[in-house]
Amino acid sequence: MVNVEYDAVEKRYGDTIAVKDIDLTVEDGEFAILLGPSGCGKTTTLRCLAGLTEPTGGTITLGDYDITDVHPKNRNVAMVFQNFALYPHMSVRENIAYPLKVEGASPDEREERVEEVAEMLEIPELLDRDIDNLSGGQQQRVALGRAIIRRPSVFLMDEPLANLDAKLKLSMRSRIKVLQRELGITTLYVTHDQEEAMSLGDKLIVMDRGEIQQIGTPDEVYHEPENRFVAGFIGSPSMNFVDVAIDDAGTVRATKPVDGFEYRLEPTVADRYQNDDEFVLGIRPQYFTAHTDPRDNAIRGQVKVTEPQGDDQIIDVLVGDEDDDRIELTVKAPSTLAADRGDDIWLTMDDTLVHGFDSRTGTRID
Ligand code: ATP
Repeated sequence: MVNVEYDAVEKRYGDTIAVKDIDLTVEDGEFAILLGPSGCGKTTTLRCLAGLTEPTGGTITLGDYDITDVHPKNRNVAMVFQNFALYPHMSVRENIAYPLKVEGASPDEREERVEEVAEMLEIPELLDRDIDNLSGGQQQRVALGRAIIRRPSVFLMDEPLANLDAKLKLSMRSRIKVLQRELGITTLYVTHDQEEAMSLGDKLIVMDRGEIQQIGTPDEVYHEPENRFVAGFIGSPSMNFVDVAIDDAGTVRATKPVDGFEYRLEPTVADRYQNDDEFVLGIRPQYFTAHTDPRDNAIRGQVKVTEPQGDDQIIDVLVGDEDDDRIELTVKAPSTLAADRGDDIWLTMDDTLVHGFDSRTGTRID
């Protein structure tokens, strides 16, 4: 069993706390993703496991061993970096074989394993090429090959797709997923791209400002975000947040700015919030339905801008009369809906899917 366990791990640089109180378990064979905005501490968390960064507090165990103070070379973890970090003066074959050479494997064994890994990554024809004249995607496959050849206990990847173009990114993404499943290696993968995270991970670890905000499956972090940060970070376009007050009849009204946003919630939904006079309502863009004519119990707004996206369009809607204090909502609608800048538009919503968050702490309240 090669599960990974972080226990109260912390890393400070002087007064800067890069990561704080990281408690985390990655199960044997699991594909776990560290996800969060730039500077939130993802790389630091990963590097602590690789042994490239020394934690200032806490312990990390691998299987049954406390590896917190073990030299990186003796941890049996392999890391793939964003810039691939290949050796430019060596051929593809030499690059992939390098970790085995360092370990003192025989030339025959090296050759056999290189062939095996090259087959797996579909790059046998590249083996005798120089690194310099490979494309980005090919270099990335070589970097993966070099990482898996030693059959590490844990596979660490730090934004390995960041330098690839969009199309290559997609194909490498599925290749990495298949490879991870086939090898069954416990994997910790860093990205700031939530789509990449959702499509790859068994488990998502969402971080912000050095702390873990939520750990869960892609479905859990999307449908049951624990707080406003996670709700806003996961999903594209982002969830809309409106500060509201609720009355006894179950009608929510925006509190700032005051005018315009008013909606009568389904009684079962309103019940969830009756204990909280004021809260933050969270509505994903696709949970609105946009109409070009007035409706009962609809929020009226004006189209600010539309962004075509093939079958759909994203509409920015301004709600309220005050020019400088209007609520801006992002709405997803079919591309067939005729909406132009300045048009009036009416929004209804599937309110069984909305979320409420505590105004002060941001914690989800339903
Ligand atoms: P990115 O997505 O931009 O790579 P990240 O989430 O991986 O960001 P880290 O690189 O882990 O974030 O950095 C976390 C915090 O620690 C940041 O505020 C960063 O400036 C700080 N930090 C990281 N390394 C050092 C260092 N060697 N010295 C000082 N501060 C550092």
